[in-house]
Amino acid sequence: MVGIFDDSGESADVIVIGAGIGGLSAAAYLARAGRNVIVFEQDHHLGGTAHVFRRKGFTFPAGPMSFTSPGYISAALIDLGVKGIPGFIRDHFQVRRGILDQVISLPLSLLAQELSNNFPWEKRGILAVISVLEEVIAALDRMRPEEFMAEESSSPARQVIERWGNIPARDLVDRHLKDPFLRDLLGSQGTSEPEMSVVLLARMWNFMSGEGIWYTEGGINKFPELLAERVCAFGGEIRLGERVERILVQEGRAVGVERCAGGRIRAPLIISDADYQETILRLLPGVPAHEKKNVLLMPLTSSAFSVFIGVKKGSVDLSAFRGDHLLVKLEEGEPVPWKDKKPRPEDFMQDEIWLSWWSRHDPLLAPPGCEALIIKVDAPFDVFAPFDAGGRRKGRYYSMKEEMADALVEASSKVLPGLSRAVVVREVATPLTYKDQGHRSNGSVAGWSWRSGDHPESWTRSLTVTSVEGLLMVGLQSFTRLFYGGMGTAMYSGKYAADVALGIPCL
Ligand SMILES: Cc1cc2nc3c(=O)[nH]c(=O)nc-3n(C[C@H](O)[C@H](O)[C@H](O)COP(=O)(O)OP(=O)(O)OC[C@H]3O[C@@H](n4cnc5c(N)ncnc54)[C@H](O)[C@@H]3O)c2cc1C
Repeated sequence: MVGIFDDSGESADVIVIGAGIGGLSAAAYLARAGRNVIVFEQDHHLGGTAHVFRRKGFTFPAGPMSFTSPGYISAALIDLGVKGIPGFIRDHFQVRRGILDQVISLPLSLLAQELSNNFPWEKRGILAVISVLEEVIAALDRMRPEEFMAEESSSPARQVIERWGNIPARDLVDRHLKDPFLRDLLGSQGTSEPEMSVVLLARMWNFMSGEGIWYTEGGINKFPELLAERVCAFGGEIRLGERVERILVQEGRAVGVERCAGGRIRAPLIISDADYQETILRLLPGVPAHEKKNVLLMPLTSSAFSVFIGVKKGSVDLSAFRGDHLLVKLEEGEPVPWKDKKPRPEDFMQDEIWLSWWSRHDPLLAPPGCEALIIKVDAPFDVFAPFDAGGRRKGRYYSMKEEMADALVEASSKVLPGLSRAVVVREVATPLTYKDQGHRSNGSVAGWSWRSGDHPESWTRSLTVTSVEGLLMVGLQSFTRLFYGGMGTAMYSGKYAADVALGIPCL
């Protein structure tokens, strides 16, 4: 043991790698329990992806725009002693496609009524789909995630979840509905073909229609700031701008970390909030090849191409928005695959374009007389990967992304007239940005795949405990499903890992 630590006398009870929401949450719970905790964060800011960036008076989100499970999040913050929980502002969502223009952040019964008014011949099917969603939502409400993971017996709620867990949402909507717009809307909450399982879809509808999707006053970075304040108040330490290069393992047990800047620190417990692949494939030495291969095969969610824009108020017509977020498909047909896309508006017309009126719920996000908007489309990592030169960019990357952004803004002008000419500030993020600045493998934006059939279990499974003793995982990838949404699950993962470490039964 002494041999690998001979260049540093420093030690801690717990080392947390990463000051994202998961890492800070674990650090706060363990520091509160009296453990000497050090958090190492490679960036010079807190919060990981839940961070914001500023351009000429505009503030934009680096990752999350909103969060779900407000009840769980505020209860967790109160439990940690946060005084003055910020106000939560409900975000509203709308889908527009052809003649369909529907606000979807409504109670399910009201949504069913409005859809039935617009598609009277589909009324029976709409009610059938919604009744299944309600049955699964009720079952999920009766089971906290730890109960689901622990329970051996088959309670009625668990039976419902098991029954629908591996049924594709597509099967459900295809069975009951004929109209393709309706199938996509109820099966994906947008204009894309349904991909999720019925259980995940029900959870998403519960967020959208029941619990709500929220923005927090003071900005999405407020949560990591509050958690970090708690870590320090409980005596923990956060070191920004310090990257962990390696997790040190001796005789199969994690025993400390090596910093990028040099120096080793001893600790009997290492908690990694880093991306799962990054932790297992790069930070951990000596992982057997078959285990590495298995990790590489675990499917991730896709990445995104995002355009952040500041506009002058009045020079763009925002009247299409009935809420904060508008999902739109401008023309019918399959989206042009990214590998074939040319930088022209018509190549984005069949995509699902996510338009967000970002400054609507918080005017402080834009300077006076201006508005902040965000445009997003799905984008696969593979098409951008050839431009990656180990963190730097090669080839036509910069001009390509700006030309693609021009085309996407031009396409979006069909819904928001005047948009192209109203832009005063613009920033573009690609899957490479989300990989290098977001530190997520393949620029993936929402953890493990959401596709039905990609996971054997019907609902969620914990990946907190690793095969290396003394190494725990936290963050949105430490569970196979985001039962509290991205930020909520990351926050929960810190408590869960702390309970495991402290030997507290999770039930
Ligand atoms: C574009 C985008 C949009 C998203 N939208 C939403 C949304 O709307 N709602 C939602 O709930 N969630 C959203 N998410 C998911 C979001 O990432 C999570 O909700 C949550 O913030 C993730 O927290 P985390 O703790 O898992 O990790 P992260 O936020 O990824 O933080 C991990 C931290 O670990 C640090 N780190 C990694 N390796 C090392 C190392 N070797 N040494 C030191 N530090 C290291 C990183 O720098 C980072 O700060 C989005 C993500 C992205 C990228």
